[in-house]
Parts: sequence; C-alpha cells; structure tokens
Amino acid sequence: MTLESSMGTYSKILLAVDLTIESSQVASRACLLDADELHIIHVIEPLSLAYGGDIPMDLSTVQDQIHDQAKTHLQEFSRSLDVPAERQHLVFGRPEAEVHRIAEEICADLIVVGSHGRHGLSLLLGSTANGVLHGAICDVLAVRVGIIDDENNT
Ligand code: AMP
Repeated sequence: MTLESSMGTYSKILLAVDLTIESSQVASRACLLDADELHIIHVIEPLSLAYGGDIPMDLSTVQDQIHDQAKTHLQEFSRSLDVPAERQHLVFGRPEAEVHRIAEEICADLIVVGSHGRHGLSLLLGSTANGVLHGAICDVLAVRVGIIDDENNT
C-alpha cells in the first residue's frame, strides 16, 4: 500500500470564510481537494461580544442589517462554488468555537481556513486560524493568504 492510498482523500470539508476578498483564495485550495461535500461557514460575531455593555443603546437593528448583508454575501459566494443552501452555515458567535461546533455537527474530516503570515504582536495575540487549529477534532488546512508585518505596519 502506498502512503497516498493509505491516507485516502477528504470526503467532507468545512471551509471557513470571513467573506473578505481573500476568501476566494482560500476557497480555491479547498476546491482543489475535490471532496464529496463542501460546506461553507461564516460566523457573525455579535456586537454585544465586541462592545459588551459599553454602548448604552439597542444594537439589534444594526445586528439585523449585518446578518442580512452577510447572508446575501454568503449566498453569492456559495453559488459561485456550487454549494447548495443546506451546506451554507451562517451562525452567530466566536469564529473558532462555531467552526468547531459545525465541523462536529456535520462530521467534517477537514477544516480549511485562511492564515495571515503574522509576526510580532498579533502572533502573540493569536489568530482565527490558530484558534481553529487548537481543539479541532479533524485535520485543519491553513491556507496562507497574505503577509502582515507588524514591525513595518504593512
Ligand atoms: P484572521 O486570522 O482572523 O484574519 O482570519 C483568518 C481566517 O480565519 C479567514 O481567512 C477565515 O478562514 C477564518 N475566519 C476569520 N473570521 C471568520 C468568520 N467570521 N467566519 C468564518 N471564518 C472566519
């Protein structure tokens, strides 16, 4: 048996996208793997998590608008990859935790995320890719999407 045949291929991939321009780059890698099922997840971080009780106003209208906009973007993005509605996951919460939760729910055997080439401070603070890697119950592919150099602020 060759190493290649013993490893097999991935059958269910969960592609995590932040719906920025870089998402296409990450998606193209996921598509190359030619899995039986490709699922896509986008996580909306609740404004209350970001601002806590600091802003004394009702953020629900803004939150609804963010949700509607994300839904449209996710649908368009998924359509371009031929991913049907039942494999599109739009959820609220912290990206790392929700990616893990949905990966378990659908029994994904690979999670694909983008990864910035971070240095310095942001390396210490961590990234979504790092967070997804730690605690994942399946393989994780981190696709390098750009380089941010904190020292030069580029
Ligand atoms: P970051 O390091 O936080 O800029 O994010 C890198 C990668 O994490 C992105 O390319 C996505 O794969 C994933 N990611 C970040 N934010 C989200 C989100 N809100 N929903 C789903 N995936 C995300």
